[in-house]
Amino acid sequence: MEPVAIVTGATRGIGQAVVRELSRHGLSCIAVGSSWDSARRVAPGSHLHFTTHSQRHTALAVDLAQWPQWTRGTRSRAFVGAVRTTARRGRFSLFPRARRGQDAQYVNLLVNCAGVTQRALSVNTPAEVAQRIVNVNLMSMFTLCNVATKHMIRAGRRRGSSLLEVTPSPCIINVSSLLGETGHALPGTSVYAATKAAITQYTAAIAQETATWGVRALSIAPGVVSDTDMVRGLDQAAREQLVQALMGLPECTTEDIARQVWSMYEGESQSGSL
Ligand code: NDP
Repeated sequence: MEPVAIVTGATRGIGQAVVRELSRHGLSCIAVGSSWDSARRVAPGSHLHFTTHSQRHTALAVDLAQWPQWTRGTRSRAFVGAVRTTARRGRFSLFPRARRGQDAQYVNLLVNCAGVTQRALSVNTPAEVAQRIVNVNLMSMFTLCNVATKHMIRAGRRRGSSLLEVTPSPCIINVSSLLGETGHALPGTSVYAATKAAITQYTAAIAQETATWGVRALSIAPGVVSDTDMVRGLDQAAREQLVQALMGLPECTTEDIARQVWSMYEGESQSGSL
């Protein structure tokens, strides 16, 4: 059986660097983007590597803003297949299904990286915009963590081994933000920061629950990641304010975060800031 990583937000920025790093280390990846167009841009080289013969990668389009509709899998379009083969649209399953007698894939890592930010003070943020931020950053992450945990437990039972014996053990990594941590409040980020604070606390709580089944739940809280659309989209003043609010912490790169994610999965590091 083949271990697989599901990474949301994998079409650009941090998520793109994460799937590149994971696939470089031999993991098969399911790269999730918000739309058919962005999923189609997931490609070998820029996003994914093939370093072993058994690696199979898939790119999927799931609009996480459409929570909870997307969880029913009826309205979303999907792009399924090894990225080297022809794309097709249709019904999809985010988690690979076990097929009798086949060399099934099983999800051993989930990285919840998809995120949308805020560009206005709370009083100027329409309810629809707040809803979108909450659906993508938080509600979709809840659902994915729950489905992944059940999938990881079932996969362990099918293999007939205790999850505690699998190396690296099944793992969920949720991407939070320093803006969600106490002492880093910044005007214009209220809803975004609230979702990120919730991610950190939610992850700490489920870590206690999933440990029973040998599933690790960790979070990572990056500061400013300079080579992303999220930060490139800021004007100079906002960017300086952000760096200052984060107490002059040095900016890091998507590759730094990707290496941190790999090292967390391998078991070398725990939840933390970067
Ligand atoms: P980018 O803006 O570069 O990329 C965002 C990713 O999220 C894209 O892959 C995008 O897919 C996906 N996404 C957005 N909306 C949806 C949606 N409705 N459904 C599905 N996927 C969606 O972001 P970053 O790489 O900068 O950020 C990644 C994560 O890291 C976020 O959670 C962010 O909050 C967090 N973070 C970022 C920091 C930074 O400085 N950049 C600092 C701290 C945390 P598509 O291409 O299809 O739009």
